[in-house]
Amino acid sequence: MMRGLIAFAALFVAVLAKETFEGHQVLRIVPKNELQLALLKNQEEIVEFELDVWMGVTGVSYPVDVRVPPHTLESFKSYLDSHDLEYSTMIEDVQAVLDMEREQMKSAARLVQPRNTDSFDYANYHTLSEIYSFQDMLVAENPNLVSKIVIGQSYEGRPLNVLKFSTGGSNRPAIWIDTGIHSREWVTQASGLWFAKKIVTDYGKDSALTAILNNMDIFLEIATNPDGYYFTHTSNRMWRKTRKPNPGNSCYGVDPNRNWDAGFGLPGASSNPCSETYHGPSAHSESEVKSIVDFVKSHGNIKTFISIHSYSQMLLYPYGYTTTPVKDQAELHALAQKAITDLASLYGTRYRYGSIINVIYQASGSTVDWTYEQGIKYSYTFELRDTGSYGFLLPAKQIIPTAEETWLALMALMDHTYKNPY
Ligand SMILES: [Zn+2]
Repeated sequence: MMRGLIAFAALFVAVLAKETFEGHQVLRIVPKNELQLALLKNQEEIVEFELDVWMGVTGVSYPVDVRVPPHTLESFKSYLDSHDLEYSTMIEDVQAVLDMEREQMKSAARLVQPRNTDSFDYANYHTLSEIYSFQDMLVAENPNLVSKIVIGQSYEGRPLNVLKFSTGGSNRPAIWIDTGIHSREWVTQASGLWFAKKIVTDYGKDSALTAILNNMDIFLEIATNPDGYYFTHTSNRMWRKTRKPNPGNSCYGVDPNRNWDAGFGLPGASSNPCSETYHGPSAHSESEVKSIVDFVKSHGNIKTFISIHSYSQMLLYPYGYTTTPVKDQAELHALAQKAITDLASLYGTRYRYGSIINVIYQASGSTVDWTYEQGIKYSYTFELRDTGSYGFLLPAKQIIPTAEETWLALMALMDHTYKNPY
């Protein structure tokens, strides 16, 4: 009995053991010239100093953010000094920010189990099970507008739930929105919950949204990488990838935004399973990706595809894997400009916009390159707040403002799609 108890206790500890980020710092490095840019692009340094790249290299005078563990911090700083690379400390102690985040999650409003989506605490981060129950409540409250479809299962067997907002018809032209494909980008899933409530609230009241929903369907996948999201709550807040083991390697997971069959495996993704941008063994190897691929293909009438990430405040369109402009470049660019202008009108939040490869960097196998090549003209990726005060650890009090301003941009994209059928 005692032995059983000890074994149970040990298991309990193992399950609850959380990766700590005590003494980890996030440094912001600003390359001043092409030579420094090349140094920062060097993948060997990432491995040697065990860096977690929060915001990658984009260009001269644009910042690069990296999380550095305490045991390589001094040597990495010496390396930066020796190459005359300027840096500042963006986060002094990652664990201290995580502790604050945890305290906020324990705050009173959230502890009360919401009985409906009106009393749901949108100004807080939520666990995966809370997201699942939110979805069921929303469907139960709005049976004529919202339904839940399960497009597949995650690697660990969790349902891949998609909320369908529809006022009828069959296979109407549709808009797809996903959040949280990178699990640590918590403000995206939190915004997804707010969007879902916003749609049911505004339908019948807001004339633009009502017109859209009287003619089109909206699909919203909030927990697009549920295994990863669960893991960010239970084990490692910084987890980005899927949770599938890689045979013959101790590192887990694939970057689900490098796993799509568009320029798959080209530069802009890693073949190293330990990399945060590992593209996986083959295109669509991840069920979280393949389920969307199958859904998009079988639906066949999706006109707008929006995949939401954080952070760095950008609105991007294809391509990521090639510098060749998309044939709809002019229209996508003008529409992006309209969307970010609308977004900025609320709180003045400024976004950069353009094609992925031009604005950020070469990224191969990304979601919207694939959807564009499937014929979905309006394919966009967001990078939500902020630009690097908190990065992935955006304080919960910014959730609602972020969702509100992003909604204005989403409306611009959806309204344009509705008014420009193709
Ligand atoms: Zn992301």
